[in-house]
Amino acid sequence: MQRRDFLKFAGSAAAAMGTMAAAAPLLSVKPLLATTDSAYESSILAQKLVYRPDGWGGAKVRYLDYPGGSFDINNPRQADLNQCQSLGTSKIVGNIKQIREIQSGFKQYDLGFYGKLEDLRAAAGPQYYSPMGNALVFGLRPFGTEAYVDGEPRAEKLPIPEPATMSRHIKDIAFYMGADDCGIGILPKQALYTHQVATSEAVAKGAQPSDEFEIENDHPYAIAILYNQDFRTGTMASDGYDGGTYGARRAYFHCGTVACIIANYIRNLGYRARAHHNNNYQLVVTPVLIAAGMGELSRVGDCVLHPYLGFNYKAAVVTTDMPLMPDKPIDFGVQSFCKTCKKCAVECPSQSISSSDTQEEYNGYMKYKLDYKTCTIFRRTQPQGYGCGRCAVVCPWSSKEPSWFHTMASYLSSMKNEAVNRVIANMDDVFGYGTEVATEYKSWLGYPGMGR
Ligand code: SF4
Ligand code: SF4
Repeated sequence: MQRRDFLKFAGSAAAAMGTMAAAAPLLSVKPLLATTDSAYESSILAQKLVYRPDGWGGAKVRYLDYPGGSFDINNPRQADLNQCQSLGTSKIVGNIKQIREIQSGFKQYDLGFYGKLEDLRAAAGPQYYSPMGNALVFGLRPFGTEAYVDGEPRAEKLPIPEPATMSRHIKDIAFYMGADDCGIGILPKQALYTHQVATSEAVAKGAQPSDEFEIENDHPYAIAILYNQDFRTGTMASDGYDGGTYGARRAYFHCGTVACIIANYIRNLGYRARAHHNNNYQLVVTPVLIAAGMGELSRVGDCVLHPYLGFNYKAAVVTTDMPLMPDKPIDFGVQSFCKTCKKCAVECPSQSISSSDTQEEYNGYMKYKLDYKTCTIFRRTQPQGYGCGRCAVVCPWSSKEPSWFHTMASYLSSMKNEAVNRVIANMDDVFGYGTEVATEYKSWLGYPGMGR
């Protein structure tokens, strides 16, 4: 019997024996609310059905202060993180500089700052070519043009409800469009790049790939839209390191296109809005996700763990000046759990993830060190394909499926108890999570006879 089948069988058996009663307090944990927990918000929530997926529960989610500590709905503005001591559960101990897009790992690689591309590829040897992976990238490309991500708002503003109701409405739309989560944050000023590298559209019009363009964005709000990356294709990263690329590109396509639609909708209401997605970013997504209550910074560099999706998602963002009610950052015990777990550091094929017990300062934040250069070069050149995601697959927060077992494990993992964390991480190993060989899906997106 397969392990996952065993878990389902065990769940049924436990229910039959009445042991589910013992787990009931855990299963009835209040699910994550997409908005703050004020009485007014609660009344809004009671009025309207949200297209949120059923079955989420487990992790105990605690709400923290807004970035900056307060929020004035009559005078909304971007949060200046250099006036803050933390963003969510991430401590801020130094000056956070806004960076240029050209400083990001993939731009560094693509523009030759990590070494000549021919040399890097030659050193890595022949690389598997993925016809479907290539087609998935092609899907989002047209949505990266300026006409899709941005535009002028309607000249006359249409009447809209007050911010809490409008926030709920925007989330309803995102969930209706298939998003797996949606949060709204105060946009941290330091999340914005100062300069964007020429997009493929600009290059087609004559710009050099390394040309940079200054970014101007004073939108106070950021809407984060998350799509599940599909765990089944993700497990292909267990032995070939590239299966996650299918799921990642599929999720980028969905969240990117929906971000463009929601930005367009907001402009149709008369407000400014810009979509940011995998084919056209003007910001770093990580601080936006934390500000919007979508998760906590993890051991894997800039990766944010979501309480139910783990790393198993991709995100796009809409920045806007439409009045909204922001969510608060959350704490569900990741800082404590990552300190004990270290599975991603052990399993990373390029040894890019720190296994240290302590965090260190990086651009003002306290975080675990990630070697962006070795990670990026491995992802771009590894022989099995054009990506990795091994860290995402092995993370105990990612390998979740709806079952009483995982609900209970998520709850216990969020309790910030070192001994319990160790037991959960060891159990994850005992059950073999992250080591699955995904033979069933090897050719799922391929074709018969492709040999994988
Ligand atoms: S994507 Fe792969 S190489 Fe990069 S940190 Fe994760 S496991 Fe390591
Ligand atoms: S694998 Fe473990 S240490 Fe790494 S991000 Fe996940 S919980 Fe944290």
